[in-house]
Amino acid sequence: MHANLTGSAPIIARVEPLTLTRAVRGPFDYRLRPEQSDVGVGAVLRVPFGHQKTLGVVLELARESELALERLAEPDAVLPPGVPPDLVALARWIAEQYCSTPARALGLVLPPDAPGAARRKPVQIAALTEPGEKALLGEGRLTDRQRSVLTQLQNAGPAPVTALGRDTLRRLESRGLVEFTSVDPVKRPVNRAVGRRLDGVPELTGEQRDALDAILPALGGDERTGGRFLLHGVTGSGKTEVYLQAVQATLAAGRGAIVLVPEIALTPQTVARFQARFGDVVAVLHSGLGRRERHDEWLRLRSGEARVCVGPRSAVFAPLDDIGLIVVDEEHDPSYKHEGDPRYDARTVALRRARQHGSVLLAGSATPRPESVVALHRLRLPRRIDGRPLPPVEVLDMCGVHHPLHPRTRMALADVRAAGAKAIVLLNRRGWSNFLACRGCGQVWMCPNCEVALVLHGAQGFLACHHCGHRRRAPSRCEECGSVAVARHGAGTESIERELRDAFGSELPVFRLDTDATAGKGRLADTLARFESASSGVLLGTQMVAKGHDFADIALGVVLDADQTLRFPDFRAEERTFALVTQLAGRVGRGFDSGPPARVLVQTLAPAARSITLAARHDSDGFLGLELKRREVLAYPPYGSLIRVVCSAPEATEAHDLATRLHALIAPAGGTVLGPAPLFRLRGRSRSQLVIKCADRLAMVRAVGGAVDECAALAVRRGVSVSVDPDPQ
Ligand code: ADP
Ligand code: ZN
Ligand code: ZN
Repeated sequence: MHANLTGSAPIIARVEPLTLTRAVRGPFDYRLRPEQSDVGVGAVLRVPFGHQKTLGVVLELARESELALERLAEPDAVLPPGVPPDLVALARWIAEQYCSTPARALGLVLPPDAPGAARRKPVQIAALTEPGEKALLGEGRLTDRQRSVLTQLQNAGPAPVTALGRDTLRRLESRGLVEFTSVDPVKRPVNRAVGRRLDGVPELTGEQRDALDAILPALGGDERTGGRFLLHGVTGSGKTEVYLQAVQATLAAGRGAIVLVPEIALTPQTVARFQARFGDVVAVLHSGLGRRERHDEWLRLRSGEARVCVGPRSAVFAPLDDIGLIVVDEEHDPSYKHEGDPRYDARTVALRRARQHGSVLLAGSATPRPESVVALHRLRLPRRIDGRPLPPVEVLDMCGVHHPLHPRTRMALADVRAAGAKAIVLLNRRGWSNFLACRGCGQVWMCPNCEVALVLHGAQGFLACHHCGHRRRAPSRCEECGSVAVARHGAGTESIERELRDAFGSELPVFRLDTDATAGKGRLADTLARFESASSGVLLGTQMVAKGHDFADIALGVVLDADQTLRFPDFRAEERTFALVTQLAGRVGRGFDSGPPARVLVQTLAPAARSITLAARHDSDGFLGLELKRREVLAYPPYGSLIRVVCSAPEATEAHDLATRLHALIAPAGGTVLGPAPLFRLRGRSRSQLVIKCADRLAMVRAVGGAVDECAALAVRRGVSVSVDPDPQ
């Protein structure tokens, strides 16, 4: 039965309800009321849904429905501002590419909600004029009330009109004794952590010029390079300046730009440079903002008032309506991959969005991913701006060294202290020790929910699981055998902090940067700022210390336990380790001042691992060449795609059985299905994993999605949850 309508306006909205249940898939048809005729794609509606109300997003408009018109419900309300149509299309694409649902993907692009949403009105400010000042001196008649208002303005300076009395001020304004200005009350997120040091636009070096000259034609619409660039430049080579000038050219052409950065708290300097260069046309979007601020920044972008959006991975969804350029800074950073459903990769989404808008994509890194080297047009910045060479890197073999610091590391730190200089020490492990074991019976204290060892924190204080957050008091004796000989193994940032304090005293203050030390808003930026302004000291922390900071005059960089990342059973382990060492080396020896000769020490149990030896030689081309060969042989990305499927359940057999069933359903679709392989228990759930290698990614994502849907009812009955992760990290 068809409802065929007369008139031209489409009056049926196809609405995707925003529910999290996988089983509910829209869109569902609703009949628009006459006063809702301006509803378009992307409008957010409140609609009746079953016996409830729900929010939904309009995917399409139509004139006809499968159902009779009178059987269609009407939306209750339209909730502005809605989602721009191009972001609706992007969300639908994400749902398909990442084996998610349209509702979940739409959740990524919704305007940040603002309680009591209406935009705040500009505030009118009144200020005393010159005639006003004269009037106060007696030249002109004033009532007592008027005199009092003018006196207040004279004494306290300009003030909001509402604070002083609108009627009186209006009359004064009509006589020219005060003037009004409108001020936008929206509080801009300001970046307090860093001093502005970049006021003027520097003259580009020849190499920067060449890179920019390759990009500019693409911004102008020249398609010979495909408009997809990888700026491969050593740390400190001036990549950010190239981004800034590319953004400048984009704005000059009347288009907008998105600049993606890794976690914003770790890159305040980059954000500040964009704000300093472009001022109010820059909007910053990130989760550290209050809801109100986020909403306001979103609206500034949507209205075109702001035309550059700087932010972490979610900023790829900035509501700009004409994007000329998308920059992905530090493109190797794992934070670009989203860990929850939809498990999107902002770098891939950026490429898609660039295609939608006909924009140029500019990714940059000192340690680019092999994928990007193959897919993008590479531009190079081989030298540091300050002309200093990259620091020499020495690899220290830790076999047989029974102390967390190698003797040479100790000596080097003592030199730093003597010179009143600065060092950065990286250890990718929080806490006090790696694990705790009984010397009597050998038992290791494990998490009751996860199959991992608990980590000692706060000296003797407590044990914590780094996966589920489980905590307990540290044992004073073994619960199994009663022995009091409880031994700590391995070091964490906390114990190294104590180690450094004991060894070097207050002359070499330690600034610890990890999620324990810097929990709480602003602490992280604060620690970085204190280290920057200190004259001497050690910045100690997890991989956070190696990220993008531009500190002048770091004399020494140390990586403790560099092969720790190598021990992860992951095909990106080598890439990670290489990046970690190279990025840390990149923080060292910057700046124009002549300090002590800078250097880097890398402590490792695997001194011959190629990711470490090549990083020590700053040989990223050598590393990329070997890594690409290895990936080609194994059909890993970029020569093939991977999809990871994890089944988890309270019972190991249930998880394993479902994975086996999925294997059988997926195998006929081609590709290689590996597993089921057990993973360690996590948060009280046993897990079983399949890894699928395939040539045709989308076809395989669809096959996996189909198999998961087919098993959905069974999975629910058995208490198994399934997560699908295309392009896992
Ligand atoms: P990268 O992003 O490659 O690590 P940056 O863009 O942070 O490098 O540049 C390193 C330093 O050099 C920064 O302090 C920056 O202000 C400065 N710089 C960049 N380009 C120039 C230039 N052309 N002239 C002078 N200084 C520059
Ligand atoms: Zn024991
Ligand atoms: Zn746990």
